[in-house]
Amino acid sequence: MFDVVIIGGGLSGLQCAYLLSKEGLKVCVLEKNDRIGGMMQSFVRDGVVFNTGLNYTESLGDGEVLDRYFNLFGLKGQLTLKQLDLNQSELLTINNKEYQIPQGHERYSETLKSYFPKEVNGIDEYMKGIEKVCESFPLYSLKSEIRNFSAESPYTEQSASGFINGLTSNAELRAVLAGINILYAGKAGSTALYTHALINYSFIKSSWRIKEGGSGMANVMANAIKANGGIIKRNSEVSEIDVKDGAVQNVKLKNGEIIHGRKFISSMHPKTFMSIIDDGAFKKVYRNRILSQEDSIGMFSVYVVLKKNKIKYQNYNHHYFKSNEVWTTELDKWPQNVLMYTPLNHQSNEYANGFCIIAYMKYSDVEKWANSTIENRGEEYEAFKNEKALKLIDLASEKIPELKSNIKSFYTSTPLSYRDYTASYNGSAYGVVKDYKNPLYSIITPQTRLKNLYFTGQNLNMHGILGVSISSFLTCAQFLGDNYLYQKLIKH
Ligand SMILES: Cc1cc2nc3c(=O)[nH]c(=O)nc-3n(C[C@H](O)[C@H](O)[C@H](O)COP(=O)(O)OP(=O)(O)OC[C@H]3O[C@@H](n4cnc5c(N)ncnc54)[C@H](O)[C@@H]3O)c2cc1C
Repeated sequence: MFDVVIIGGGLSGLQCAYLLSKEGLKVCVLEKNDRIGGMMQSFVRDGVVFNTGLNYTESLGDGEVLDRYFNLFGLKGQLTLKQLDLNQSELLTINNKEYQIPQGHERYSETLKSYFPKEVNGIDEYMKGIEKVCESFPLYSLKSEIRNFSAESPYTEQSASGFINGLTSNAELRAVLAGINILYAGKAGSTALYTHALINYSFIKSSWRIKEGGSGMANVMANAIKANGGIIKRNSEVSEIDVKDGAVQNVKLKNGEIIHGRKFISSMHPKTFMSIIDDGAFKKVYRNRILSQEDSIGMFSVYVVLKKNKIKYQNYNHHYFKSNEVWTTELDKWPQNVLMYTPLNHQSNEYANGFCIIAYMKYSDVEKWANSTIENRGEEYEAFKNEKALKLIDLASEKIPELKSNIKSFYTSTPLSYRDYTASYNGSAYGVVKDYKNPLYSIITPQTRLKNLYFTGQNLNMHGILGVSISSFLTCAQFLGDNYLYQKLIKH
């Protein structure tokens, strides 16, 4: 009998397992795949290491917010960090104009003012505004005193695009302020200001790639979990949850094995979770709320293997928009925007060995292959992916003309890949949409009506390495106590 059984060996499942096992609880992580890491996977093609859900991350400078969470989760000092270019961590191409976006709040503000000298007030208001939002989240601002541990803030009810549009009527500046929008799949009609603010503020603070990649990060935590006496069972898909007397009794694996625990944590997408638990386990109203939540759009990625020593490594991310319209995930004229970057090359600091291009993709675009499985989707699907990949390569080549002639091979992933590898509902990239119009509806709490079942992961409050770390903290606080855990977090 385990103290805690955790469904899912992605970032959140591993973080929870690490913290709880460190505190002496006997944990068991059940991961459906052969490999841990979930969305945050690394894979190798033609000798090049690519990362799926971890291109770069934010605020890892000493004492910065994610650095503190990494310290709590045993990751600090265990990974090789490379900071992106201070003067240009993001390059924005918007409507044929380029903007070099630096790190550091002052540098960011000064650079924007040099691009938009008539917009000084709007830029100052923007900086003050996003700082205020971040400060309003206790688990972000990490002050020494904390009374309310919830992840809510007054700004969950404000829209990101509304906030930006209220600061300036300059369409170009509006687009630049929201230029890293693909990091949260921002939509004008729904994205909450806090999602935009927490992400933008943190990436402006500092931006980093991690040499060991997603798998390296997962392995660091897995080794620590095992050293703490925890167990990680791979190829262990949970297919049924046995509920009795308002509590989970055990979980059943696809191979028939039954795993017993006192408490259970699920990091699965909540909609997928509902498909393996009895209809009567939750009140109808709660179940319907979960099942009717909107999901963020999926992604189509092209992973290009480059010819050796031909294209320089770019220590930044390039966000390329065809027009000033950066808030749209509507895809009538696909592709309208892409994120391009070169992953770290373990053999050379100067040249890139890979090139990644990422664009939004609706699930409905791949739905006709919904009944297929990985590697068995057929020729038509392969042709579809090839056609889409060539379109993205064409678009990327508009900015990097030497790309096309230096491609050795390329590989792709679609929302179906994410659906089948991670069980993210319909291949949604960032999980449940946090809609400013209805924050209470879209934010999921770690506690559930079942007395020994908890949720964690990107669907709770926010996605991404930082958002998930905060969710893992909130879930573990249910076991270890808010204040006890908080003191560990702020101790640096
Ligand atoms: C294309 C893309 C790029 C991204 N880039 C970045 C980035 O650069 N920086 C950043 O900070 N964030 C990025 N993200 C977001 C980040 O990767 C995710 O927010 C984070 O990894 C989610 O972690 P999680 O634990 O919540 O979920 P997951 O990683 O999905 O973990 C859930 C785990 O549960 C397992 N599972 C599901 N069902 C079962 C079952 N029935 N039984 C057993 N196991 C099960 C899955 O296999 C998976 O391992 C990106 C995401 C995508 C899609």
